[in-house]
Amino acid sequence: MQTPFPPVTPPRRILMGPGPSDISPRVLAAMGAPTVGHLDPYFLRIMNETQEMLRQVFRTQNQMTISVSGTGSAGMETCVANLIEPGDRMIACINGVFGGRMADVAERCGAEVTRLERPFGEVLTAEEIEAAVREVSPKVLGIVHAETSTGALQPLEEISQVVHDAGGLLLVDCVTSLGGLPVEIDEWGIDAAYSGTQKCLSCPPGLAPVTFGPRAVEVIDNRKTKVQSWYLDMTMVRNYWSDQSRAYHHTAPINMNYGLHEALRIILEEGLEPRFERHMRNHLALKAGLAAMGIEYAVAEGHQLPTLNAVRIPDGVDDKAVRGRLLEEFGIEIGGGLGPMAGKVWRIGLMGEASTKRNVMLFLAALEECLATSGVSVTAGAGVSAASDAYRSAS
Ligand code: PLP
Repeated sequence: MQTPFPPVTPPRRILMGPGPSDISPRVLAAMGAPTVGHLDPYFLRIMNETQEMLRQVFRTQNQMTISVSGTGSAGMETCVANLIEPGDRMIACINGVFGGRMADVAERCGAEVTRLERPFGEVLTAEEIEAAVREVSPKVLGIVHAETSTGALQPLEEISQVVHDAGGLLLVDCVTSLGGLPVEIDEWGIDAAYSGTQKCLSCPPGLAPVTFGPRAVEVIDNRKTKVQSWYLDMTMVRNYWSDQSRAYHHTAPINMNYGLHEALRIILEEGLEPRFERHMRNHLALKAGLAAMGIEYAVAEGHQLPTLNAVRIPDGVDDKAVRGRLLEEFGIEIGGGLGPMAGKVWRIGLMGEASTKRNVMLFLAALEECLATSGVSVTAGAGVSAASDAYRSAS
């Protein structure tokens, strides 16, 4: 019998928004490999190798490093739910949407949450964090490394010491940094961190890499109450991920894990340092091109996120019309603003496979075309030419 429903034939897009990013055909091919059982020896090998590669990408020796079955928010919830017991104090640093989400998750886990807030687009200083941890003595301080909602990059190097001095744990959201920017779990003294597969790891959305260091594991081992989420309870999930205690917990998304395995292989083949340099080079070229077109960044110099460029929409330009044309005419997806930045900024992602010279040049040319017909005067070719100069001076 014929079905009235057509097969899945999505349009080909260039994903330069806040995520997902472009996916390598190698990752898609891996996801199409035959499904095996979740306790099949082949899959157990894939799990072990994925853990080992994740440790390299997180730059950690942490044994408890796995991919949680769920998107980045599941990673956030895993970290918070396992570290927090009802009545615990937690500081949530909020300078964008995702810090706010972390506070919400912590409250749902019964934490007494102190919100340390900064306007969207700004970052927190080590001094203000130190003052807050001294006052609150939190069990956990949660902070977002790369705020995708604002395009701000939070410096982390100095924070762990002040949190540890006050007896707390440092929890970091590295959803939009892992695999695109240095994330030094061990060197920076980060106790727990989570990410998502669909940003700089360039794998479709669906898994959340997480890592817990020795202090965090001790806290989990000494809990007085059960983790309030059955699905995300690391005291049970970790048995599934360990050769010593392997036991069914839930049916892992087998083919998603194939995809992550291949995405991690691609990252390690490229090398972390060359990958970070690539992300920076493309960010600087895009920035030079946008500047030549009179477009400014929404975040102050020095705190701009290379993987997510939040720029002010020029006066008089219709946000949705330009994004619509970019998508329809050029196949390019970029993001609009979130929260107080809605309608004021565009968010241009340069993550993983999408962070390429080709995409930077194509985007600048396409944007020039869209702006020209929106009545903004841009010197023809100025953006592409400035980006081209930036690439030449970087080589
Ligand atoms: N944290 C940050 C910084 C993010 O950018 C996102 C998603 O964009 C999340 C958390 C939530 O991840 P997900 O949408 O995969 O659940």
